Amino acid sequence: MDFSIPDELQALRERVERFVQDEILPRERDSRQGPHGLAEDFRLELVAMARRAGLLSPHVGREWGGLGLDHRGKAVVFEAAGYAPLATIAMNIFAPDEANMHLLEQVADERQKEEWLLPLAAGAIRSCFMMTEPAPGAGADPSMLLTMARRDGADFVIDGAKWLITGAVGARLAIIMAKNADDEQGPAGATMFLAPMDAPGIHIERVLDTLDRYMTGGHAVVRLAGVRVPESAVLGRVGEGFRYAQARLAPARLTHCMRWLGAARRAHDIATDHARRRSAFGKPLGEHEGVGFMLADNEMDLHACRLVIWHTAWLLDRGERARHESSVAKVICSEAIWRVVDRAMQILGGLGVTDDTIVARLFREVRPFRIYDGPSEVHRWSIAQRVLRTGGSAAADGGNVAPRA
Ligand SMILES: Cc1cc2nc3c(=O)[nH]c(=O)nc-3n(C[C@H](O)[C@H](O)[C@H](O)COP(=O)(O)OP(=O)(O)OC[C@H]3O[C@@H](n4cnc5c(N)ncnc54)[C@H](O)[C@@H]3O)c2cc1C
Repeated sequence: MDFSIPDELQALRERVERFVQDEILPRERDSRQGPHGLAEDFRLELVAMARRAGLLSPHVGREWGGLGLDHRGKAVVFEAAGYAPLATIAMNIFAPDEANMHLLEQVADERQKEEWLLPLAAGAIRSCFMMTEPAPGAGADPSMLLTMARRDGADFVIDGAKWLITGAVGARLAIIMAKNADDEQGPAGATMFLAPMDAPGIHIERVLDTLDRYMTGGHAVVRLAGVRVPESAVLGRVGEGFRYAQARLAPARLTHCMRWLGAARRAHDIATDHARRRSAFGKPLGEHEGVGFMLADNEMDLHACRLVIWHTAWLLDRGERARHESSVAKVICSEAIWRVVDRAMQILGGLGVTDDTIVARLFREVRPFRIYDGPSEVHRWSIAQRVLRTGGSAAADGGNVAPRA
């Protein structure tokens, strides 16, 4: 096992850390941030800064304008950027665009890549991913998908309702997940479609007020009423949508872990600094065992998160699907990151609940992570299924367990 970071990657990490310190931290209180994320002009300013620094879209292949990082490279760079979440927006590695670009790079044809991946990787446009539906439609259980795509001549016509769609407001591209019926051209299943957001029939009904605030455009309720798309808008193959959703989700879960790990490290650093400077009952807070233990627990949680992320990234880089490990990583990280930020708030006392530090803001951001990309309970349930099936540790063969279809 070699945990050393190659020189080139270490140099890139240092450049990201400098970018965060010099360019992003001074802009963290820019007033162009509201309950539904950043104003588009602010986002574009940040993207331009990352472009000048040579740090834009590091996860995308070089032929599409990125730096071509592998998953282990992302683990290092995304954590460094996550220290200031605005840096992840600047570098174009935030949700949902980062995962959408990954999906397009893996599945789209050359023409679709030219049309959508190129401007996305340049940070010129944004995208959204439309999977979740209001009850009784798809949520934690994607098989409950109700949105339908029916063939009409050479086109598909899509009808349905979606909600919690991050970044729908202001996006140019929608990746729509819909069910297709069985017909002579193929079996029934789910299909992904690439549709311009200004296509007739895509209606944003409202933007939800949510706990989190970083995601550009917020989260919207969207109605799809007779959205007509040509066959060429199908991403990959008809009926393969669930498979592509998995191909998107396993790495997407992990990149969330990477970014929020950086944010949790920030909260821990702020709490540590406070525990050194602030005194109560005759000594610095950190000298009280109750506070020192919280710092120690943070340190252990952060370390465990990093190890589980690096291991899963290594599996993905070996070409494995790592569905089991990415589930394990998602639960460990989302819960540990939450604990770290919660403890940091506790150590800060009243200061922690004010916006005088970033900790309160991070607290709001990391809670939803235990729900999106699969709630903890659903991951635990699928981990348990694998354990029962394999008769013990599901990762006993080195993490290469073939998951059930
Ligand atoms: C901030 C945020 C951003 C999001 N962005 C997007 C987006 O861009 N695009 C998109 O398509 N979706 C998005 N989502 C939706 C997200 O993917 C869903 O919220 C998630 O899949 C859970 O679905 P649900 O909310 O319908 O919960 P439900 O399916 O109703 O589940 C509710 C709860 O039931 C429990 N539960 C469910 N199944 C089981 C089980 N088998 N065992 C035990 N307990 C279970 C869990 O505790 C779960 O939290 C976003 C959500 C949030 C919070």
